Amino acid sequence: MDFGLRDMSASQAIRDLQGAPPAHGGRKILHVDMDAFFASVEQRDNPDLRGKPVAVGGSRERGVVAAASYEARKFGVRSAMPSVTAQRLCPSLIFVPPRFDVYREVSAQIRAIFAEYTPLIEPLSLDEAYLDVTENLKGLTYATQVAKEVRRRIFETTGLTASAGVSFNKFLAKMASDQNKPNGMFVITPDMGAAFVETLPVGRFHGIGPATARKMNELGIFTGADLRRQTLPFLQERFGKVGTHYYWISRGIDNRAVCPDRVRKSVGAENTFSVDLMEIEDMRAELVPIVDKVWKYCDGTGVRGRTVTLKVKYADFQQITRSRSMSDEIESKDIIRSLSDELLEGIFPLEKGVRLLGVTLSGLNTETDESEEEESPQLSLGL
Ligand SMILES: [Mg+2]
Repeated sequence: MDFGLRDMSASQAIRDLQGAPPAHGGRKILHVDMDAFFASVEQRDNPDLRGKPVAVGGSRERGVVAAASYEARKFGVRSAMPSVTAQRLCPSLIFVPPRFDVYREVSAQIRAIFAEYTPLIEPLSLDEAYLDVTENLKGLTYATQVAKEVRRRIFETTGLTASAGVSFNKFLAKMASDQNKPNGMFVITPDMGAAFVETLPVGRFHGIGPATARKMNELGIFTGADLRRQTLPFLQERFGKVGTHYYWISRGIDNRAVCPDRVRKSVGAENTFSVDLMEIEDMRAELVPIVDKVWKYCDGTGVRGRTVTLKVKYADFQQITRSRSMSDEIESKDIIRSLSDELLEGIFPLEKGVRLLGVTLSGLNTETDESEEEESPQLSLGL
């Protein structure tokens, strides 16, 4: 199929009516996503694991499933699930410790394949990326053709399968790659965009997390169609800046560009308190869920860092940061927590209350030598 300028009519009409920002008209965007990536790598490298329910992650008490094979998913095992829960759902589940060095190697192979087709690659994690193939390096007319070739090349090179979503913007491409998983492909044309979103439960929208979905449900918003019925001011009032994004994606419109140099420089989480804190014990307690959040991301993606930074915002909005770096990548949540606690002790005695605490991990293993932009894109994990 062709994503030329032909037939942008539906979304164009909506844009004209609603005064949307100018569209990057006629783009061809792919979202390529490896199937059960970590688990598939383990099954590839160890024939004993093939056809069996496998979870990559720690089986210990506080372990979390980083990835589950499709055999495990049949039992309801999901990534980010506590290992104890996963084991209960699937008693025959085999836990395999992660080998992030291998995943990173495969990830580099996949990126090299992407780079043969376009320089516009925006990785979301080790195993998925957006590709803008509007002007692809092979001069292929059809985005679906690019997707097919990329998937075939990935399989030939790595022995692993990938799924792809093909559409005219990032949001729809991302939603599309999930449609025919595993080892599948799905195309959402400009004609289909709005209708595709209509029936989708808001919890399935990329960019709408469980907490936001719950909040939307409380407001009577369950599907894309419900979301679309809300006015822009209403969504902005209820959800802030991101409300604008919700407004447009509910119409299948997303004009965000594919940003090739968005390498994560840091992973951070923070929380603003309803009352200013004065006691170190209260602050230590508040750091626990913040560190959990940071580590959960590390666990799920294999991202590791060397530097822990504590951010403190005082009642008068003065802000300070304190950092500590380790010589090696930090491999456990407890280390991040004890470094954060140590940094916290350093801000005492206090002269004023604390309204916000944040913890950021940087010096990440995702960084490459050439990525030296002044503006560091940060993944913020809302609490
Ligand atoms: Mg994946």
